[in-house]
Amino acid sequence: MNINVISVFPEILESSFKGLTGKAIEKNIAKLKLIDLKEFSNNDYGSIDDAPYGGGEGMVLGIEPLEKSLNTIEKPGHVICLTPQGTVFNQTKAVDLSKLKDLTFVCGRYEGIDQRFIDNYVDEEISIGDYVLSGGEIAASVVIDAILRNIDDVIGNKHSVYRDSHSEGKLKGHVYTRPSDHQGKKVPEILLSGDHKKVNEWKLANSLWVTKEKRPDLFKQLQLSEKEMILLRQYGDFVKKKHD
Ligand code: SAM
Repeated sequence: MNINVISVFPEILESSFKGLTGKAIEKNIAKLKLIDLKEFSNNDYGSIDDAPYGGGEGMVLGIEPLEKSLNTIEKPGHVICLTPQGTVFNQTKAVDLSKLKDLTFVCGRYEGIDQRFIDNYVDEEISIGDYVLSGGEIAASVVIDAILRNIDDVIGNKHSVYRDSHSEGKLKGHVYTRPSDHQGKKVPEILLSGDHKKVNEWKLANSLWVTKEKRPDLFKQLQLSEKEMILLRQYGDFVKKKHD
């Protein structure tokens, strides 16, 4: 996958790709090209932004520098603008975008981007949530990280991606590691039993229960099989008994 990012502060992105996503870049599974918008000023002052027409606060990134920077990319592919006005990003979108070969992200700053650039060149506007950041760089890092996790060979154990929260509409459940007993707080016995069938059933029931408790909105959309309903009921009875 070829990923291009146009930004006023590309150094913010440089530091965010470590660990798994950094390895994806090292292994050439993904090629990341950072484009510094400041190099594409079209005036003697070196500016890339200007005051908004019609007045109002802040500055707006101009269409000409943005256009010039985009034209340096051989194959921009699908062009995404990060903006709080975009469709809110989620796991389904991350999976869909992970199937594309060329992606270009455009990061806004200040008051945003001249609308004509968006109209002419942007295929999709994405927001990472209903709040306002100072710039699109952190949003681009979030989106790129979530995309890369879904590309084959980025994560050693492929199955862990499929079992992650949101991959099947539900949340991953509780996880534990050593010690099995910490000051009297014990790891659920079944996880130590070595009985894989029972362990998997517990994990499924726990994940459904966690989803129901923490994200009733997601839970409502799940279509549970009869077996899942039984497992969840048994798990609920077990939790209730523990608290009685
Ligand atoms: N004045 C704009 C508005 O109210 O819609 C906000 C501009 S914001 C200060 C500057 C830039 O940060 C935006 O152009 C966008 O690239 C990025 N940004 C801010 N919040 C974001 C969000 N929730 N998701 C994605 N990008 C965001």
